[in-house]
Amino acid sequence: MSYEFDLFVIGAGSGGVRAARFAAGFGAKVAVAESRYLGGTCVNVGCVPKKLLVYGAHFAEDFEQASGFGWTLGESSFDWATLIANKDREINRLNGIYRNLLVNSGVTLIEGHARITGPNEVEVNGQRHSAKHILIATGGWPQIPEIAGREHAISSNEAFFLKALPKRVLVVGGGYIAVEFAGIFHGLGAQTSLLYRGDMFLRGFDGAVRKHLHEELTKRGMDIQFNADIARIDKQADGSLKATLKDGRELEADCIFYATGRRPMLDNLGLEATGVKLDKRGFVEVDDLYQTAEPSILAIGDVIGRVQLTPVALAEGMAVARRLFKPEQYRAVDYAMIPTAVFSLPNIGTVGLSEEQAVEDGHAVQVFESSFRPMKLTLTDCQERTFMKLVVDANTDKVLGCHMVGPEAGEIVQGLAIALKAGATKQHFDETIGVHPTAAEEFVTMRTPVKR
Ligand code: FAD
Ligand code: NDP
Repeated sequence: MSYEFDLFVIGAGSGGVRAARFAAGFGAKVAVAESRYLGGTCVNVGCVPKKLLVYGAHFAEDFEQASGFGWTLGESSFDWATLIANKDREINRLNGIYRNLLVNSGVTLIEGHARITGPNEVEVNGQRHSAKHILIATGGWPQIPEIAGREHAISSNEAFFLKALPKRVLVVGGGYIAVEFAGIFHGLGAQTSLLYRGDMFLRGFDGAVRKHLHEELTKRGMDIQFNADIARIDKQADGSLKATLKDGRELEADCIFYATGRRPMLDNLGLEATGVKLDKRGFVEVDDLYQTAEPSILAIGDVIGRVQLTPVALAEGMAVARRLFKPEQYRAVDYAMIPTAVFSLPNIGTVGLSEEQAVEDGHAVQVFESSFRPMKLTLTDCQERTFMKLVVDANTDKVLGCHMVGPEAGEIVQGLAIALKAGATKQHFDETIGVHPTAAEEFVTMRTPVKR
């Protein structure tokens, strides 16, 4: 049977673009359909604009600390509209780059919503296309719980386009997005409260890291409320919002921002015309080769709900392109030791196992920790401390996890991730000469375990 395309990719986000470009590069005839924005979540309403806003929020403390180094600054003020306009301009530029990347690699770009009409058929803008393989790379979408007044709340999608910086913000959730946006709003000068339903935010991260970040954010004056959950939201006569908590307390705000996880984006995708199955959480179920229950249909990225990170979607897209069209270069994605950063202020950087996970996995662990005042702050009044931690297997000496809370933690942990991937032992860390004076050198100078 002959098909119009070898591969039809639905979604031009991180994973879809990577798969489409590489498949076309390997000689396949490829189409990609995109309904909303080129580059997907990461470029338009995710990693990139988020990081730009985090940079923006960081200036407040830079200005504050400058006087310790002899600088006298004039009155500073912040204009949200300028930041958003400049951010939009940069995102537009990136959209153009993504378009060129696709077109120049020979991919047919079809702009419109794609609906699967059969195991080998996709409809976009009323036109049907046949393909040997269909790749679902449709990503995710913010999920706000079903509470009364949820229509008054916003998600990260809207936050990037607010007309003005709200004066008072309630951020709900305790994951990456909640912690990052609480830092953005707080840093830019909004009165910010972070409400999390559990005892301590960032579930799954190392316990000491979570505690340290909590202390640092509290020192900075962010209002953090644990065991706090909103039962209903009401709009008041003056336009402000009133949140009634499950414990009966009432909080007022100008903006209520929910970051309570993301669902797979399957809206009007037409899966009912196929044998594709969903897992218990509603994500597309795939095997180790990203194959769904329908043999001609594959899925990657956030829509399969494994690890919702851009570099993981990229790796999965690459794996699919190679397996289908360049099998001699195929390598399975290795989900161990994925480094990650939370771009809170200060950042978290982490790779490998938390102490809790290492113990649960049956390792006899040795723990090394260091907490110190970064050199840059010694001439300032800022009392922020940087925290670093190594989790080591006491029997094999292998470093199981590296964790940091402090400036540029994400940048530092990327290098450590290579060492861990290569199987580095604590002895390798000890024998590595530090770069002086840096914060990172602390990772190779921790000598005495705080715990065995
Ligand atoms: P997406 O990038 O979401 O792409 C899916 C694309 O499919 C979209 O463009 C969508 O419009 C399109 N689409 C959906 N349905 C259809 C259809 N039926 N027809 C046509 N097109 C369709 N990850 C990091 O690694 N680092 C970060 O700092 C980071 N920050 C983030 C911050 C925020 C606020 C958010 C929300 C996410 C962040 N992420 C971050 C996660 C990262 O953005 C995602 O993991 C990544 O974008 C997933 O890529 P994907 O290809 O699976 O899907
Ligand atoms: P997460 O899954 O990380 O966190 C969701 C948070 O919301 C958790 O604290 C969860 O609590 C809480 N929650 C879930 N449901 C409810 C509810 N009904 N009521 C109250 N609270 C609730 O999701 P995010 O939305 O923060 O981010 C989605 C994903 O995007 C992340 O997991 C990450 O993979 C990716 N991302 C990556 C970033 C990065 O790399 N820097 C930045 C931003 C996003 P509990 O823990 O109790 O379940």
